[in-house]
Order: sequence, then structure tokens, then C-alpha cells
Amino acid sequence: MKKIGILGSTGSIGTQTLQIVRDNQDIEVIALAAGSNVDLLEKQIREFSPKLVCLWKEEKAKELKDRIKDLSVKVVSGMDGMLEIAVLPEIEILVTAVVGMIGIRPTIAAIEAGKDIALANKETLVTAGHLIMPLAKEKGVRILPVDSEHSAIFQCLHGEKSSQVEKILLTASGGPFRGRTREELRGVQVEDALKHPNWSMGRKITIDSATLVNKGLEVIEAKWLFDVDFDQIEVVVQPQSIIHSMVQFKDGGIKAQLGTPDMRLPIQYALYYPDRMYLNDDRLDFAKIGSITFEAPDFNVFKGLSLAYEAGRKGGSMPTALNAANEKAVALFLDRKIDFLSIWDIIEYCMKEHNFIEYPDLNDILKTEQEVYEMIESRW
Ligand code: NDP
Ligand code: MG
Repeated sequence: MKKIGILGSTGSIGTQTLQIVRDNQDIEVIALAAGSNVDLLEKQIREFSPKLVCLWKEEKAKELKDRIKDLSVKVVSGMDGMLEIAVLPEIEILVTAVVGMIGIRPTIAAIEAGKDIALANKETLVTAGHLIMPLAKEKGVRILPVDSEHSAIFQCLHGEKSSQVEKILLTASGGPFRGRTREELRGVQVEDALKHPNWSMGRKITIDSATLVNKGLEVIEAKWLFDVDFDQIEVVVQPQSIIHSMVQFKDGGIKAQLGTPDMRLPIQYALYYPDRMYLNDDRLDFAKIGSITFEAPDFNVFKGLSLAYEAGRKGGSMPTALNAANEKAVALFLDRKIDFLSIWDIIEYCMKEHNFIEYPDLNDILKTEQEVYEMIESRW
């Protein structure tokens, strides 16, 4: 039996991870954590019988405790609760599927406790990759990518020498606003931005896909996961989302991983790596697809991508400023407090104005996050 814990079990990645558990008989769920969704977490507890669960909000944890009085499941709350799950001795793989920088501390704690990480929470690697990757190496734990592009790259690299990689070709769908001018983006509404052409995901990452901040975060994530320079990462728009990413090697040869846009494959690959298990899903029908097309991303309109390259190249606290500003800006946009274009303006402002730290430790990262949040609260 594989023993796993899931942080963010009620979200898009979390529920799909549990679908994989349901479809296979050899994974045991030891612990689950969520933010506030008591109803769904209760259902998950009754179905998967974990021994420890956490809800971020204390009052919600109390409500849950009351509802599952008939079970012997320990209920905890807050960051302490998430950290308790992260270091639970039985857990072999921790699936980090919470959204946002909240994932950093539990991820670090789990690595320190020697757990492999099935990493969906890209914000963790974007902001703290310089701490996490060396720590993982030191502790001998695997960081198994769940993000579809990074899983594709990971699959392409299987059996290859990383020293023979020339370039990573990170594919992007271009999001719902591909091809639009800045003027055409001025009045777009939350509903328009939430309509992703190919993938069904959580709200924050769906907005990130519309601004191309998501692709930018993925560029930084790829830098850390695969130990390459930013010059070796090229974003290629492939609107049908059939090629999930590619790797070009020294001899010019290119490997690509293709599949339907379904997150269960990368999640399952991370959980069973290096094995492949049967997955009950549609198979690609190339005659039906007809063509797969490519274009260059528009760095001028979709500043999320250019800002992320800039932040990644500058390093230090810059990716944290970008990420924290984006988290806050997306929340404001979803609350209809700012317009779509302001997301990029806020990120740019915070990158410029925050107190830059060249070698941030964990405290500096969390301090920068707070500083950026306060900066935005006082201005927007
Ligand atoms: P969702 O918004 O669907 O889910 C987020 C999960 O995190 C929920 O379970 C939520 O609980 C939980 N959560 C939120 N805040 C807290 C908190 N303070 N403490 C504990 N749990 C919390 O997000 P996604 O599943 O879409 O994304 C998760 C991560 O995976 C993100 O980093 C995203 O970028 C990445 N990712 C997602 C992909 C996708 O297809 N969805 C693809 C690739 C990467 P509750 O429901 O109670 O609020
Ligand atoms: Mg992705």
C-alpha cells in the first residue's frame, strides 16, 4: 500500500487525486487538509478513512469535529495542523495541492521529515525553489511534478541525461484571451476570464492562465525542477493543449509528451513513478484532431509572462513579490474590485517597490509576502 497525505483535498487537484485513489486499490489515504469546505471534507473522511484531518479555519474544524463524533479521526486546524500532517510518520508521499504560498511551510516540513512530494502547489517552488531543491537533495526526497507541463518534461527526461538537455519547450494554451490586444482586454469580466478553453481547474489558476502569469510561474517552476537557465526555457503556444511540453536535446532531437487535457495522468504518474498504471480516459484520436498548431506568445500584451521571466532572472525576493502581488490581485479581480489589466499593473508596481532581498531565507520570503500584501491593501 502506498500511504499518502493530501493538502488541499477539496480542490480541483485534491479531488482528482482522490479519484485516482478510488480507481486503484493500493493507495491508503492517511491524512487530508482543506481550507473551509466542511461538507466535502466530511464526505471524504467517510469514504477514505484518514486518521488525521485539518481545516485551516478553527471554527470550521470545530464544526467538523462535531459532525464526525462517531469516528475516531483526529481533527486539527491552522498552520500547526498542516505541519502536523506534513510530518506524520506513516505518510510516504505528500500531495501538495493547496493554492498559494500557504504551501511553503508544510512542504519544507515534509521534506525535512523525508517525505516524497507530489507537487502541484507551484507557488511554493516559485518563491522558495532556492531553499526547497537543495533541501530535497540533502534529504534524498523526490519532488514529483504534478503540473501537466512539468510532468510532461519529467516524462520526456526519463532515461536521459540532464546534462544533454539543450532546451525546454514549455507549451501554453494561450488561455481564453489568446490573440487579443490590450485594448480588447480592457473591459473583460470575471466570467470571461474563468472560461478556459481546454482545462477545468481551480479559480485562481484559471485567472492565472488568462493573464499568462500561470505560464510565467511555470517557467520559474521549471527552472528549479530541472536545473536549467531561463535562456533554456522557451514558451510555445499550442492552443489545442495536446502537447503538454517538450524537451530538446543537444543533438537537436525533441521528445514531446501528448495526451488529453486531463490532470489525472500527471497526478497518477507522480504517485506511481516510475510505473504507469491503467487510466480510464479517452485516448487521443489523431485523425479526428487533424492538426496541432503553434505560435509564439505575445509578451507585450500578456505581461504576466514577461514579468515572470524578469522576476525569475533577477531572483532573490523578486519571484515572491511577483507571486504575492498576483495572489492578492487575482483575489481582488475575482471580488470585482479591480479590472483585468490592473492585475499586471499591481504585479509590476510591487516588483519595483518592495524591499528587494538578494538571498531570502524562509522568514524573508514570508516577510516579503506580508509587505506586498500591505502595499496592495493600502493602495487598491
Ligand atoms: P482549488 O482552488 O481548486 O483548491 C485549493 C485547495 O486548497 C482546496 O482544497 C482548498 O480548500 C485548499 N485551501 C485553500 N486555502 C487553504 C488554507 N489556508 N489551508 C488549507 N487548505 C487550503 O485549486 P487547484 O486544485 O486548482 O490548485 C491547487 C494548486 O495546484 C495551485 O497551486 C495550482 O496552481 C496548482 N495546479 C493546479 C492545476 C489544476 O488543474 N487545477 C494544474 C496545475 C497546477 P477549500 O476547498 O476548503 O477552500
Ligand atoms: Mg500547468
